[in-house]
Amino acid sequence: MPGPRYTDIIHSLSANDPFTGPETLERNQGFPFRARLGANESSFGPSPKALEAMQNAISEVWMYADPESHDLRKAIAKHHAIDIRNVVIGEGIDGLLGYLTRLFVAPGDRVVTSDGAYPTFNFIVSGYGGDIRKVSYNGDHEDPTALIAKAHEVGAKLIYLANPDNPMGSWHSGKTIEGILKDIPEGALLILDEAYIELAPEGTAPKIDIEDPRVVRMRTFSKAYGMAGARVGYTLGARDLIANFNKVRNHFGMCRISQAGALAAFEDQDWLMSIRTNVSQARERIVQIAHENDLKPLPSATNFVTIDCGHDRDFAENVVQNLGERGVFIRMPFVEPQNRCIRVSVGKQESLGALAHELPKALAKART
Ligand SMILES: *Cc1c(COP(=O)(O)O)cnc(C)c1O
Repeated sequence: MPGPRYTDIIHSLSANDPFTGPETLERNQGFPFRARLGANESSFGPSPKALEAMQNAISEVWMYADPESHDLRKAIAKHHAIDIRNVVIGEGIDGLLGYLTRLFVAPGDRVVTSDGAYPTFNFIVSGYGGDIRKVSYNGDHEDPTALIAKAHEVGAKLIYLANPDNPMGSWHSGKTIEGILKDIPEGALLILDEAYIELAPEGTAPKIDIEDPRVVRMRTFSKAYGMAGARVGYTLGARDLIANFNKVRNHFGMCRISQAGALAAFEDQDWLMSIRTNVSQARERIVQIAHENDLKPLPSATNFVTIDCGHDRDFAENVVQNLGERGVFIRMPFVEPQNRCIRVSVGKQESLGALAHELPKALAKART
């Protein structure tokens, strides 16, 4: 029997899940993690006002969500002093990257990213048959100049840059990003992934005219706002670009409860400020734990700290594995030379206490 006729792109891809989740690891190992420090979630949780809004929305769940996410877009537009038509809401940055890629990438179209940068973008581009070209990190930073040069060289339609970066936690100043705009090739679009921008130092967000056709910005409620499971993100861009999302997006893809929660979270900017404090204190604690173990923590503008273990990938993988066996879930970068590091998300005191307790043992075992 011939079976259903998949596209050539689907035939060319592997069905192995590239993003093994902590739940899968827990099922495989047969016990739950004590400390969940691997997915850059915020265990500080969402604003109490967001929790209340979501609780109130539960009884309305028989209704579809407003397909235009009007109230949330209006609040976001007001905050950024832009038009509501400059904002589209979607199922997290990941969902929005999917729509954006669908708007631009046909089989063989080229995109540029950094080797070892946020992998979901590559996963999505591959699904549309795009041709991914990569540049190296410079030190532990994504390299904006190299990205632009590569885009010129290969005629890329999209250029992906996360600022701050995951998995290294590094960042560029807004001025640096502003400085590369003039060099973006004609007809190329810079995707500025700002998943961690609320946690970054003042001046990390560039000032870019919202109608500038060369840039699109991605933001999320998953990280600082503590709502990863709600799946809400937003894209800021020129009206024409945002209007095109309506051609492909899942108009009824948002969860009504999540929409209500995101709106309440966004309107509670005081809570966000308190989260910045919690996150920076937790980062300090991770830095301290790293130093206690003679490891080198890298500077971070995010809700995680990437720690240089001073050895190769095998060593770092060993540490991740050993910590997992001891109930502490962390992750690590994928490619050389970043994969000499482990990546630890911030968490509450109990979780970081578990890390402090188990890391020396995990390191000792990796050294034998
Ligand atoms: C976590 C993360 C995302 C995913 O955000 P969602 O809104 O949860 O889909 C996107 N980009 C980067 C760089 C991230 O670290």
